[in-house]
Amino acid sequence: MKHVYYFGKKGTEGRKDMKDILGGKGANLAEMANIGVPVPPGFTLTTETCAEYYENEEKISDAAKAEIEENLAKLEEEMDAKLGDAENPLLLSVRSGAAVSMPGMMDTILNLGLNDESVQGLIKKSGNERFAWDSYRRLIQMFGDVVMGVEHHDFEEILDKAKETKGVQFDTELDAEDLKGLVEEYKALVQEKAGRPFPTDVKEQLMMAVDAVFGSWNNDRAINYRRLNDIKGLKGTAVNAQTMVFGNMGETSGTGVCFSRDPSTGENVFYGEYLMNAQGEDVVAGIRTPQPITQLQEVMPEVYEELVAIYKKLEEHYKDMQDMEFTIQNKKLFMLQTRIGKRTAEAAVRMAVEMLEEGLIDEKTAVLRVNPNQLDQLLHPQLDPVAKEKHTTLGKGLPASPGGAVGKVAFTNESAVEMKEAGDKVVLVRNDTSPEDLMGMDAAVGILTAKGGMTSHAAVVARGMGKCCVSGLGDAKVNEASKTLILGGETFTEGDYITLDGTSGEVFKGQIPTKDPELTGNFGKLMELADKFRTMGVRTNAETPRDARQAVKFGAEGIGLCRTEHMFFEGDRIKAVREMIVANDVEGRKKALAKIKPYQKDDFKELFKIMGGKPITIRLLDPPLHEFLPKEEEDIKQMAEETGVTVEDLKSKIESLHEVNPMLGHRGCRLGVTYPEITEMQSEAIFEAAKEVSEEGTLVKPEVMVPLVGNVNELKDQKAIILRVAKEVLGQDSDVKFLIGTMIEVPRAALTADLIAAEAEFFSFGTNDLTQMTLGFSRDDVGKFVPEYVSKGLLEKDPFQVLDQTGVGQLVEMAVKKGRETRPEIKLGIFGEHGGEPSSVEFCYRTGLNYVSCSPFRVPIARLAAAQAVAREQ
Ligand code: PEP
Ligand code: MG
Repeated sequence: MKHVYYFGKKGTEGRKDMKDILGGKGANLAEMANIGVPVPPGFTLTTETCAEYYENEEKISDAAKAEIEENLAKLEEEMDAKLGDAENPLLLSVRSGAAVSMPGMMDTILNLGLNDESVQGLIKKSGNERFAWDSYRRLIQMFGDVVMGVEHHDFEEILDKAKETKGVQFDTELDAEDLKGLVEEYKALVQEKAGRPFPTDVKEQLMMAVDAVFGSWNNDRAINYRRLNDIKGLKGTAVNAQTMVFGNMGETSGTGVCFSRDPSTGENVFYGEYLMNAQGEDVVAGIRTPQPITQLQEVMPEVYEELVAIYKKLEEHYKDMQDMEFTIQNKKLFMLQTRIGKRTAEAAVRMAVEMLEEGLIDEKTAVLRVNPNQLDQLLHPQLDPVAKEKHTTLGKGLPASPGGAVGKVAFTNESAVEMKEAGDKVVLVRNDTSPEDLMGMDAAVGILTAKGGMTSHAAVVARGMGKCCVSGLGDAKVNEASKTLILGGETFTEGDYITLDGTSGEVFKGQIPTKDPELTGNFGKLMELADKFRTMGVRTNAETPRDARQAVKFGAEGIGLCRTEHMFFEGDRIKAVREMIVANDVEGRKKALAKIKPYQKDDFKELFKIMGGKPITIRLLDPPLHEFLPKEEEDIKQMAEETGVTVEDLKSKIESLHEVNPMLGHRGCRLGVTYPEITEMQSEAIFEAAKEVSEEGTLVKPEVMVPLVGNVNELKDQKAIILRVAKEVLGQDSDVKFLIGTMIEVPRAALTADLIAAEAEFFSFGTNDLTQMTLGFSRDDVGKFVPEYVSKGLLEKDPFQVLDQTGVGQLVEMAVKKGRETRPEIKLGIFGEHGGEPSSVEFCYRTGLNYVSCSPFRVPIARLAAAQAVAREQ
């Protein structure tokens, strides 16, 4: 096994595609050396050497040590300097660098190779005594801390005392004598705390440093970082030992960070900052303010020109925006690092489109350049990031629906509506929400709930409305009766300002300004390109005209799920719905249903018109009926009055509708089976609407969907009603072509999909319920335990956000296979919340679904994810 790869004039052995074994930094240093960019030479110990170190009881193998020695000798020859030499010393930086960037998580040692002799050499070489002693004391401090376990603050204490004694404020005001004194004190500190002296043998320094960097791969910080960022399957960290160059050798030296394009806007301009007479740490420490990079043109025109040529070369070579670090040592430029730069969503879209137009990248690369999840940032108003920095977070819940929202707290629907009418922006704060809260949610700009997961009612509805929502914030104490919210030690009452960040789940006190989304030309161009690649359809989940219009604007090709019950809440409708529920017999129910029908019909007509020939999957009534009944005493009283029953009777009716497990109870097609008149009314509304709109000249494509089927007989039963009504309404040779199908959301439906397909013309996977029933996790209660499952690593992701491909995925695959065996032309879609989640969309593509359906604001995300699934296969 080769342990060490050299980079420099004596022959570079690595390449950019060797990140796996050289780490990101090592591979890019090698690549820069390969293409003639000036990098200080050095060598990289592989990630495999790190793995070997752990197999070898945390010891560097003899073979690796021998290779280190060999490469060091080569480097000394190239640099014409020697590690530890009293005349012409070579100094090294030793840095970690895994295949995936883990900023600041592992250790770095600078100025390695200094001791009492070589510091004299550095004085001679640099002609700067202060600089040499400062470098030496920095080495003892870093080495003592990182390698020998002496606490950083112990060094800082000594440093502060030295400044105090001298009566100065900054390190820079200490002179060579002071620093020389510090070196002695530091050495004494190391001896005292570590129980052994600071090593003066420079080779020992090098081996100890390598050992420490390998060791840092498994420190708590690094382990946590990998877990939180989902970094898996790496061999270990590489170690880069590289010739030191100094940006703090006087006014002709300096250091900086730069980007080949603006990482926040994506504009094709050189971007960055630098500091003269400084080391990287000084830029980070913020003692001095760096200058914009363009100013370097005036200070050192030649170096600037060279830097410009290099950044262009690197971007051209890597074909992506580069984030670079450089140092100027006595007017000579060195590149210390280059990597693909992180960017905002806006910048990602702009760069993908512009780089394609410039011919730098091809279409496939452009499609793959933007992370679909990032698009969310572009579709909703966002909190101003600068202003957000200045506020402290009161608490963090689930990022249920993205965007920022600022408003006055309201605890009830009534006050939310009133406050909105008075011209205020409102944030609705609840323990949880139910369909009853639709009015309040509609009036609010944002929703905060103490309970509920990512597919809780509040989350699903808010996403549908494109409204910011933070759910499952367990720390929030919401008292709806006394109208108070206690969070992060603050108490809020109605009318107090609060700010939500639905993208991160954070909640803040007061008002943070927001920025409106800009769906610029580049966004449209990227979407067009995505559609060129994509083979899978993208529909939307929508029931209101507003949502449907929004979704069409975002490119939806139909409605994949119209939840009819959401139409039951508007205005006076709820009264008729309640009348239907409390009716004591069929006649009573039919009377109430007759009142609901005109509303439903009008809604369907409007949707048919908006969708203009695009298919609409209409789901028959699904939720348990008690969800439509009032809970508060006052509302019960009012309903009793309106329906002409006594409060007692009404209460006992409500009591009788109570179910222990409503999600597994009297809902879905079970309602239609027991109350066929509901199915009848809904079918009439659908077909009458279809007929009328079609006669007006608009093509209609209704798809009637029976929910929660687990047994083909349920579907047969409901289908007979639907077909009978269709015949009655449409007659024999109608232009209206419709489909009847079902949802696959009960595990038994997936297991018997071959039987069900005999009756169903389409399947649509309701992965919210399918996940709930397969895992046995109540989707409304997961907030209590799933976050902990994820943080403890028991679950990789919340299965209600990201489809559990290993478990639930098997049921989907099975149902697809069995369904197609019976009916090869069966139409297959998905519309759980997973329909807009990129990795789940890719799964749907691989599984062979015809389309995905998601809330309107996720349509662009699904379009891009579906395109990427194809591009990745090419
Ligand atoms: C589902 O179960 O996946 C679904 C979309 O239906 P709902 O969320 O309305 O239960
Ligand atoms: Mg469902």
